[in-house]
Amino acid sequence: MTTVDTEQVGGSAHPVEYRVDGRVAVLRIDNPPVNASTARVRAAIISGIARAANAEDITGIVLIGNERAFISGSDLTEFAEPLLPEPQLPEVIAAIEQCPKPVVAALSGMTLGGGLELALGCDARIAAPSAVVGLPEVSLGMIPGAGGTQRLPRLIGIAATIELVCTGTRLTAPQALDAGIVDELCATEEDLLGCALAHASRQETKRILARAPIRPDAVGSVEAAAAEAIRQIGARPRVVAAIGATMLAGAVPGSDALAFERGEFHRLRVGREAQALRHLFFAERAAGRDQRGGDASHINIVGVVGAGTMGIGIARAFLDTGLNVVLLEANRDALESGTQRLQQGYERAITRGQLDETAVRARLATLTTTMIYADLQPCDLIIEAVYEDMNVKQNVLRQVEEVVRADIPVATNTSYLDLDELAASTSDPGRIVGLHFFSPAHATKVLEVVHGTATSEATTATAVALARRMRKTPVVAGAGFGFIGNRIFNAYRQQCELMLEEGAYPRQVDDALEEFGFAMGPFTVADLSGLDIAWRMRQNTAAHRDPHVRYADIADLLCEQGRFGQKAQQGWYRYNAGSTQPLTDRAVEDLIDAESRRKGIARRPFTNREIVRRALLSMANEAALLLADGIAARPSDIDLMMTLGYGFPRHHGGPVFWAAHEDLDTLSAELQQLRQLTGSGYRAGDLTLLTAVPATSRAKAVR
Ligand code: NAD
Repeated sequence: MTTVDTEQVGGSAHPVEYRVDGRVAVLRIDNPPVNASTARVRAAIISGIARAANAEDITGIVLIGNERAFISGSDLTEFAEPLLPEPQLPEVIAAIEQCPKPVVAALSGMTLGGGLELALGCDARIAAPSAVVGLPEVSLGMIPGAGGTQRLPRLIGIAATIELVCTGTRLTAPQALDAGIVDELCATEEDLLGCALAHASRQETKRILARAPIRPDAVGSVEAAAAEAIRQIGARPRVVAAIGATMLAGAVPGSDALAFERGEFHRLRVGREAQALRHLFFAERAAGRDQRGGDASHINIVGVVGAGTMGIGIARAFLDTGLNVVLLEANRDALESGTQRLQQGYERAITRGQLDETAVRARLATLTTTMIYADLQPCDLIIEAVYEDMNVKQNVLRQVEEVVRADIPVATNTSYLDLDELAASTSDPGRIVGLHFFSPAHATKVLEVVHGTATSEATTATAVALARRMRKTPVVAGAGFGFIGNRIFNAYRQQCELMLEEGAYPRQVDDALEEFGFAMGPFTVADLSGLDIAWRMRQNTAAHRDPHVRYADIADLLCEQGRFGQKAQQGWYRYNAGSTQPLTDRAVEDLIDAESRRKGIARRPFTNREIVRRALLSMANEAALLLADGIAARPSDIDLMMTLGYGFPRHHGGPVFWAAHEDLDTLSAELQQLRQLTGSGYRAGDLTLLTAVPATSRAKAVR
């Protein structure tokens, strides 16, 4: 192969290189940092195609990206504008389809969204082993807008397209080959260009839309795929539109179907739901940004102290990351039953087909259980998950310090306790950090990293890097009651309980918030996680409670009756044996009525809207306070925490995003009302801190 010509299309500022290799033009797309599609990239591809089409000695064209991505997707910052910059992607694909010479897409790395749609517009797709293909638009509130819903059905059928588009599933290169999305898989990355050149030399033009018929589906499979997508994600507008557009494939002329798809794409792109999901996308990339540069690659052995609910989940999270775990427990029975629960969890994963037996055996082989602190000596990091009690935790940390190396981070999984007080009781507070896992620890996507007043920057940076290594999103919080997540959740729970005193019942509050989009209402959540943890926290903090803030005693009264939730078959609801179905309990409603009477509160009816606004406002207010107190570094961290850790509906973007899109005067007036209802000690935050957003306009990220 001889390169006879190398230059940048349209001048050096352009991110597409035009080369000639034999009789094939090679357009290499290289747009750092992630090879995203921008207007400049699109314009450069169009001019490269035109040049190759007009060159008499050229018989074929190869489009290739860099080692990181063919094209990782469209630059999402372009999507926030009412009008997308020209030229848009359909114009690029039209240029390819009108080109009389074959165009071959050579895929490596990320080939997502518009990147895959571009490849589908070509005559053939050759993949390197690193290639990953997928259409993530639905997870961003939109649908593919450049023919994805029309060209894919011709390769893989309508049912498989609905599944791929609605779930945003990413396929590896071999999976894409099996599915029929790529035509050839080359053996190594280095072979990619050679394979693509060979293809381009012999390839005929084979425009998918014009030539290929829809691949037939088994009877009933399209309906089943649509029903499954709605079951998984809900009948959100983006899901309905994706199904609708895909089902047009083959049913109406291609140009009409493309026009419908494009119209839906634009309509959804500028809608609130897509804005919310883009906000969370950028929030994810901004999280932990201030603590970049940490390294957790040296961590091989982790010590977990406490084999209770959290200790076992945390141990599994580390085993799943490929780390060795030393699990220490003070109580022999607890150690045995905890280890059994860990094994049972893995067995369930095997039954569900998530893991195979070999993988589970390998993971369990890296677990050591012990009751002796000296066995923690080789650990590169320790995390304690013992009872939520300051004395117990201080004792544990003292024993840990006696045996471990002086340079390793020591973490606590405390939910509410004062991290600074805990750290102060150790000989090196700089290495004490909070690693607040959510239950179930191995499955949840977020890890709250708590940076105490004395925690060293290096310790926090290591913790952030460790979270990333565990494929969890790190949200960094300052020390303070409940950090970010539990503090907001506590404020929310408090208002929901006050509404009970004023006239609502648990069922109505849960229904209203579930209708808004929460996976579960606060009372169902409390029953699921157990009422006793928060009860213990309230008992510990009772002495510091402000008498000028109203306090609802109902939860305490339930706990005094042993109504600890699902595990006791009674809490805010009652449960039949073996069932997790919450049933309304007249006894709880009577107790609530009696409390209203005792406090002289005349009960009144609530509307669902009123319940939702008051609950969300209480979260937004606490978010403003967290920002003012410096516990949260940026508004988007709060939204990330609440959507990933507490079931706040992602399509509403989180409590800050919600508040930032409400009328500020109305919200401020409602906050004053809330303060009157809650007591003069209730802290009203500065809501303008929430409207000062958006991380969206600052961050530059792509998909
Ligand atoms: P748990 O009661 O299920 O487990 C605690 C375990 O620690 C018990 O097995 C106990 O025997 C053991 N233990 C007690 N003292 C010990 C000692 N000195 N040395 C070794 N082991 C000791 O509690 P949990 O729900 O797993 O909670 C543990 C911690 O995690 C608490 O700080 C809690 O606030 C926090 N947390 C809990 C949740 C949750 O959903 N349960 C979520 C986040 C954080």
